[in-house]
Amino acid sequence: MFLYSSILGLNLHLNVILMSESYPSSPVLVPPVSALDVLVIGATPAGLAAALAYARLGLSVRIIESHAGISPLNGSVSLNARALELLEALQIAEKIIQAGHKISHLEIRNANYKKITDLDFSHLHHKYPFLLALPQSELEKILIEALKSYGVLIEFGTSLISHMQQEILVTCDLKNAQGSESQIISKIVVAAEGEFSNIRQKLKIGFGLTEYQHHWSLVDIQTDLNYGDATCCLLPDGLLYVQRIKNNLFRIVSNLSNAHTFLPQPVKAEEIIWHTERRVTTHQIRSYQYGRIFFVGDCAHQHLPWDGRDLSMGLEDAVTLAAMTMDQCLEQYHDHRYKANLKVLYDSERLVRLMGQAHSPFFNRVREWVLKNLLTRPSVQSRVLVGMSGLGF
Ligand SMILES: Cc1cc2nc3c(=O)[nH]c(=O)nc-3n(C[C@H](O)[C@H](O)[C@H](O)COP(=O)(O)OP(=O)(O)OC[C@H]3O[C@@H](n4cnc5c(N)ncnc54)[C@H](O)[C@@H]3O)c2cc1C
Repeated sequence: MFLYSSILGLNLHLNVILMSESYPSSPVLVPPVSALDVLVIGATPAGLAAALAYARLGLSVRIIESHAGISPLNGSVSLNARALELLEALQIAEKIIQAGHKISHLEIRNANYKKITDLDFSHLHHKYPFLLALPQSELEKILIEALKSYGVLIEFGTSLISHMQQEILVTCDLKNAQGSESQIISKIVVAAEGEFSNIRQKLKIGFGLTEYQHHWSLVDIQTDLNYGDATCCLLPDGLLYVQRIKNNLFRIVSNLSNAHTFLPQPVKAEEIIWHTERRVTTHQIRSYQYGRIFFVGDCAHQHLPWDGRDLSMGLEDAVTLAAMTMDQCLEQYHDHRYKANLKVLYDSERLVRLMGQAHSPFFNRVREWVLKNLLTRPSVQSRVLVGMSGLGF
């Protein structure tokens, strides 16, 4: 069993360990003194959290990002209680809570937009009894600031173009925005490259088990919407989730095309800030480890973009990986993350089937009765909220 406590500030040297898959090897057995401890590829939440967790442990870390800077759009707009716990371990939870907006209730409405029930986060017996609305770019800024305090600067405009793995080292070829090439030799590579990971594709590591395909529509609108902070409407053929990001900025998510067209009030074209229609496959990587390369975040799993779990799963991968490095049990990383993430993928798939698909009128009436009569009970709410907040493990 590894100790999460070890990420809280010990300064030990990296003395690693173990491989779970076969990979090309060479006779290099002793790392050169100049070898970096950790190279992180990708500076979005999963990669930034991994870099911060390692930097806090006193290891030498570099983090590269092919984009020129942080994107102000896209990505997650909320953090659940588990994500906040993980950010607390990185000592940035307070700052993040100050920057965000606490959501204390989630309304559930029927197809006529009539309120069925209200989930009250105060029934979650936890230090963070709320959902925190915060654009991903704001979270990234805070993570980048924290990294700076450990002397780690993001190398924006720099991409990994190839790598070669040896017995205990990975040699990585990088190219920066000016076209100059350089090489880093690292003891650990954290692949946080996102959905279209190059490393994963080059290593031909596929996805295992759960493979559900869904269409999702995401729209950010700036408007005077007469809605609460978070609302889930059970439409006849799908679901509609509306969440305030801040002030009059809302994220609308649906598994039906053009999410914004399902709002009870029309949205004007000029109110749409960002709109994407995307196919999401719910699945996870077959192996979270390939020799010295470890996969975290969307690179390793994709999930439905409506319940905020994607982001917390990525943070959990990152913090777990750093803790396991310190506790010298990296060989457990794959099993630990595979099992935990598989459960999340199954659970949210079940939830979408229950809440976001066409059912018979009879089923809908029973569902509404159950929501109205059972979900009003604090003990039931508490159980539902534990799952929603990523605290089920
Ligand atoms: C449209 C959209 C909506 C989303 N909505 C939600 C939501 O509501 N709730 C939620 O929890 N999650 C949501 N997510 C997912 C959430 O954004 C991710 O879980 C989160 O960003 C963590 O992903 P990541 O850091 O693993 O990878 P990503 O965010 O995909 O980032 C990977 C980074 O790696 C960089 N990179 C890739 N290859 C290289 C290379 N070779 N060299 C250098 N850099 C490289 C990329 O430029 C990119 O910046 C959404 C994602 C998208 C795309």
